[in-house]
Amino acid sequence: MTDGGGTSEARPVTALKGVGQALADKLGRLGVETVQDLLFLLPLRYEDRTRTVPIGSLRPGDRAVVEGEVELAEVVFRRKRTLLVRLSDGTGFLTLRFFYFSGAQQQQLQRGLRLRCFGEVRRGPVGLEIVHPEYRRADVPDAQAVEDVLTPIYPATEGVQQGRLRILTAMALEQAARSTVRDWLPPELLADLGLPPLQAALEYVHRPPPDARLDLLAAGRHPAQRRLAFEELLAHQLSLRQLRKEVRRDPAWPFGGPGELERKLLDSLPFALTGAQRRVVAEVRADLCQSSPMLRLVQGDVGSGKTVVAALAALRAVESGCQAALMAPTELLAEQHAQNFERWLRPLGLPVAFLSGRLTGRARQAALDAIASGEVPLVVGTHALFQEGVRFARLGLAIVDEQHRFGVHQRLALREKGAGGGRFPHQLIMTATPIPRTLAMTAYADLDVSVIDELPPGRTPVSTVAVAESRRDEVVARIHAAVREGRQAYWVCPLIEESEVLEAQAAEETAATLAAALPEIRVALVHGRMSSADKERTMARFKAGEIGLLVATTVIEVGVDVPNASLMVIENAERMGLAQLHQLRGRVGRGKHASSCVLLYRPPLSDTARQRLKVLRETTDGFEVARRDLELRGPGELLGTRQTGLMQMKVADLVRDADLLPRVQDAAEMMLARHPANIGPLKRRWIGAGARYGKV
Ligand code: ADP
Ligand code: MG
Repeated sequence: MTDGGGTSEARPVTALKGVGQALADKLGRLGVETVQDLLFLLPLRYEDRTRTVPIGSLRPGDRAVVEGEVELAEVVFRRKRTLLVRLSDGTGFLTLRFFYFSGAQQQQLQRGLRLRCFGEVRRGPVGLEIVHPEYRRADVPDAQAVEDVLTPIYPATEGVQQGRLRILTAMALEQAARSTVRDWLPPELLADLGLPPLQAALEYVHRPPPDARLDLLAAGRHPAQRRLAFEELLAHQLSLRQLRKEVRRDPAWPFGGPGELERKLLDSLPFALTGAQRRVVAEVRADLCQSSPMLRLVQGDVGSGKTVVAALAALRAVESGCQAALMAPTELLAEQHAQNFERWLRPLGLPVAFLSGRLTGRARQAALDAIASGEVPLVVGTHALFQEGVRFARLGLAIVDEQHRFGVHQRLALREKGAGGGRFPHQLIMTATPIPRTLAMTAYADLDVSVIDELPPGRTPVSTVAVAESRRDEVVARIHAAVREGRQAYWVCPLIEESEVLEAQAAEETAATLAAALPEIRVALVHGRMSSADKERTMARFKAGEIGLLVATTVIEVGVDVPNASLMVIENAERMGLAQLHQLRGRVGRGKHASSCVLLYRPPLSDTARQRLKVLRETTDGFEVARRDLELRGPGELLGTRQTGLMQMKVADLVRDADLLPRVQDAAEMMLARHPANIGPLKRRWIGAGARYGKV
């Protein structure tokens, strides 16, 4: 990280007194390389050692300084030899508990001694206590007074003590004060926001005065913290916007044809598009007419009908003599898309190629040849689509389904597939993870967003219940009842991350047990270890109503569409994430019958698991599920970007600071228009040399 020219902050940490290479290496693990980085290594929390607290007012969990007189000190033998010291200050008493202590300590801690202690208060067997407090005598004349600022606690890394970090940040602050760390936010913006200048904010967060609002600091809501969070969000926003601008500078084929093929498909469908679908189709179409690439995210809850929107876009490309590729995150979903495309587009005389990792040998070569020659206009597949060896004759549109499974990098890789003829493909990204708007604006600042906020008519909301494992028999009875009424059911087996083989075995056993318990019902199984052909055959029979109960692993999580299925049982639901459960549940409630979802769990439930199940019982609205998911998990996981590093923030928190996001947008516009020279150094300060966004 550099800060443009030889300002003191840009110097390596080794320039500080007492910092050698060994320490510099350890600091490197905290992301600290320069003196400036130290300024932006912010405390995780603070301790108030600026005043003593009356013992009588302590509560469990407090971390506090107390002062009092030793009333009693004794060594007891429980499981372990323990030194117990009873401290009193007239307002109450407190026990100091030492499991490790020296003879000298035992000697020193005698009745009548005045002590000042610091530590975390907890409930003990006889009232409140502090285990292994920091303490010193309070009765000697030079006893060091309490601290004069709140004590910052920094992120820990092995081999670097808090005391050392305090010294280092003090040196960095001192240097910054002398040379003035550059504030890249213009004063008029800060005045507008009511936020302090950088120097003051840094001083404050590193060394808050004794009267600082600890509650605000602990919640990350203090103006000094918000000032830094704002700056960081702005840096990310500017970076994504730049990425977007670069992509848009590429040339793309404009698809401005009359829309004949689209019309034919619409005429052949057994349903009319919903208003929301029509709006999104129009938004996509407007983009596709441009000669710079579309970058559009289509959000729509499970079952909102994204596939047909994708097919219509693909037909635009085909009409203009280009190819369109649709990439799905799983084999099963890719197969299902391929079937839909076949069914819809084959009658229009358009062949569809399928490509996945399972396709090998001659079949694969034939598919590759047809794609390379341009003989097939439509290609559906898994991430095998952007592997080496896949060449498109003229890829004009890349569609990515369920984007949250793919990182930004993979999306960019697919873009490269189209680079033939100097043109880049339009990109359409579809996701069923409805991201709250402000978050989308930040996380996907490089994309335009369309929302399908309406379900096709006639859907009935799914009612959801959570049932303990011990009541499995009742659940089996429900399946019996549903099938007797002519409905169908899914039973989803637990995810076993470590082993697809174990997962398949478990699913086989479950299927066998259920088949034995439900002798009148035809039970079948799909799991990830089966051949595509077998899976497909089973799914087709389920869809045709020949199978009453489909036992499946989470391979059916996305996209599977059987409207007559009205009951879904999810085993070990407590182990799955909210988004995944919502996706699974989206397999039912697709037809005209009232549907239900049973979340079978094994007690005891952890707090978060209990909350997850509660969210699902309370709402079927994907946006609401996503919002609550965001609260429970944080944005990195929700967006699936943890691995890509897209949303790694140092200070800002997209949930906590969501209210800043609209102002961040405005500020980004203002910076671009009026202070372009500040943007580079601002981005370098927070994001580094731009490598994070992985230019391909
Ligand atoms: P998702 O958005 O979850 O990908 P799909 O594209 O799989 O949803 O659509 C779900 C089901 O709804 C499919 O059977 C699809 O054919 C059907 N469908 C899509 N649009 C409509 C509509 N406007 N009216 C009725 N059914 C529709
Ligand atoms: Mg879908």
